[in-house]
This record gives sequence, structure tokens and C-alpha cells, in this order.
Amino acid sequence: MAFDYIDSQLNERQQQGYYRQRTCIDYERDGIIAIDGQHYLNFGSNDYLGLRHDQGVLQAWVEGLAQFGAGSGASPLVTGYSVAHRELEATLAEALGYDAVLLFNSGFAANQAICQALFASSGEIIADKLMHASFIEGALASNGTLKRFAHNDMTHLQTLLAKAQESNRLIASEGVFSMDGDSPVIAELVSAAQQSQSWLMLDDAHAFGVTGEHGLGSVEQYDLNQHNCQIVMGTFGKAIGTAGAFVAGSHSLIDYLVNYARHYIYSTAFPPAQAVATIYALNCVTTGPKRAQLHGNIANFKHKARQEGLTLLESDSAIQPLIIGEPELARQYSAALAARGLWVPAMRHPTVPKGADRLRITLSAVHSEQDIAALVDALCLVRQELGRGAD
Ligand code: PMP
Repeated sequence: MAFDYIDSQLNERQQQGYYRQRTCIDYERDGIIAIDGQHYLNFGSNDYLGLRHDQGVLQAWVEGLAQFGAGSGASPLVTGYSVAHRELEATLAEALGYDAVLLFNSGFAANQAICQALFASSGEIIADKLMHASFIEGALASNGTLKRFAHNDMTHLQTLLAKAQESNRLIASEGVFSMDGDSPVIAELVSAAQQSQSWLMLDDAHAFGVTGEHGLGSVEQYDLNQHNCQIVMGTFGKAIGTAGAFVAGSHSLIDYLVNYARHYIYSTAFPPAQAVATIYALNCVTTGPKRAQLHGNIANFKHKARQEGLTLLESDSAIQPLIIGEPELARQYSAALAARGLWVPAMRHPTVPKGADRLRITLSAVHSEQDIAALVDALCLVRQELGRGAD
């Protein structure tokens, strides 16, 4: 029978406790999500600043719709590239201090495109073990060789660099890791790249909009530029509150991607109205009070959780994981929190390593002090109820 592995693979997932199902959201407002008629405080969104519901962002999107229509109508090299896209690229390039920026429909597409275009024939990709699936999949599908160093382990990175053979080498890491919420020591990555004459790339999906004096992410926080970190990928679907992604680099890198990145060339550009809203949202990030609110919430949560003896991973970011260790128990934790009106997703293998199944708590500027207190209280009660994990 053709494709008879489909059912057996699904059964296997079910038996191992890793079967995935989607949750359908009815609506969301001010950090509350409605699911099947029930309301929950949302601790599972990457909308770290609450910009998805910002009145100005919504208004900008509406104005963009009036000017450009609902969609872009074509891929960027045909007629899909508008003045709104160009303005967003220019705004980002100037803010980051990079020559140029290219927009992508998603971070997934951007990561795939970087790997596919830069490693069209050969080369070595040396990536942190915990890099996002979109990058790892892209690297595996490219014609480069993928090597992975243990998470944030610079000694292991040096060992791999010492064995490297290809002259085109890319060291890749993330500004803030999506599942652990921690960061690499960027200065060490920069010097490893410089000493080995490799390029450095950062996936800044979870740092862009959050870290740095004006929220411009790792580039601003660590004083990076296109000479010491040749590629920066950032997304708009998280702290920026819209959708899509960008790659920042030198003129020649961006020109090369325009010419060779198939994910760019052969895909309908995202709606110009989305670019208009994203420009507005970026301005909110750099000038508004939302980042300060988020960082206050992170500090408050960490303090309260520590007081209650909840052992979190080492993270100063909006991502605060609580390791449970078994997939079924992680699911039970999530369900028990939902029963108390809190939505905290369980992350299980293969999204995270086996045995590191966890609750991925994400904090946002929209949460109030009471929301954070309610979360910590509920985590303590559920820990008592379920007995194991989270300690
Ligand atoms: N990189 C990282 C680190 C991510 O967490 C994600 C999204 N989960 C992506 C890339 C992909 O971005 P997008 O959602 O825009 O496709």
C-alpha cells in the first residue's frame, strides 16, 4: 500500500506521548485567549510586547490596505515589491547599521534561503545544537556539510573549527534560544569566527524587538556590524507583532540573495499593508514603554518563582522554561494549569530533546503583576497536585 507508514507513524507518536494537536483560538484580547468558549490568561504567545493589538499598528495596517490592497499580487521580482517593502528594508538597514536588508515571508523561509543560497555547491555550516528547526532543515537540505556543536559550548565549536576543511564556513547561533531562552556569549562567537575566517550568522528571532537599548536585538546589544556578524536574521511575528522576517547583510550578500534565494524569488511577497504595519510597530518598539514593561515582568516572575523554589532554566529573556522531564507529565501540567485558567503550552520531543519535555512559559508586556502572581501560585499548586517534575 502506498504511504502506509502514515498511520503507523501517527500511532507511534501517540504511544510515545508525542502526538501533536492544534488548539484553535476563538479570539484574543489583552493577554486573554478564548478557546472553546473558555477564557485563559495567555502565557504561550511570542507577542512579547503585546503589539498585535496595538491600536496604532492596526490603524497602520488599515491605511496600508487602502493604499495597496489586500495582497502584494506577485513575487518580489515580478510586481510584488512595493514602496512599503522598500521603506521597511531601508528603516531596518539604517537602524541596524547594515548595508541592506531583504524581507522574507517567514523566518522559516529566510533560514532555508540563507542555507540554500550560500551553500549551493559546498561549504561547512557549524551550528549550535539547539538552533531552530528551520535552520537545521535548511542546512540539511543544502549542499553544505552540517556540523553541530554542543549548546553554547565554545570549546566544542573550536574543536569543530580545527577540523574544518572547506574555505566557506558559517558559524550559526541564536541571539536568544527559542526553547531555552538563554543566549550564547556573543563576543566568543565573534572571535571564533574572526580567528577561523568564518562568517557568523545570528538568528535573532527572539531577541529582535526585546534586547538592546532600543530593542534592536543582538546587533545593538553586542555592538555587531556586518564585518563581525555577516548575517542577521530577525522575525516580525514575535515581538514586532506582525509576521514575516528579514535578513541584514552587506550589499553584495543581499544582492546575491535577490538573485539566488529561491524562497525569495518564487514566493508571493507578503502584503504591503503588513510592511506598513511593521514599520509602525518598529517605531513603537524603539520609542515606546513596552520593553520596559516586559523586562519588569521578567524580573518579577523570576523573583517570585525563585521564592517558591521553582527551578527555572537560566534565562533572562521572555522565555522562561520549566523542565518537567516526561512528555505525558508535561502535558498534564499544561492541562492542570488550563483548568485554573492559565494557558501554558507543553513543549515535547521532537521540538525539545528527549527527557527535557517542558512548560514553555512566555511573558509579555501585557501581563499585569496580578497575572504573574496568579501564574506562580498556579504552578505551585499544580506541582503539589502532580507531585513530580518542576523541582
Ligand atoms: N527562528 C527561530 C529561532 C524561531 O523560533 C522561529 C519561529 N518559531 C523561526 C526562526 C521561524 O520564524 P517564522 O515563525 O517567522 O517562520
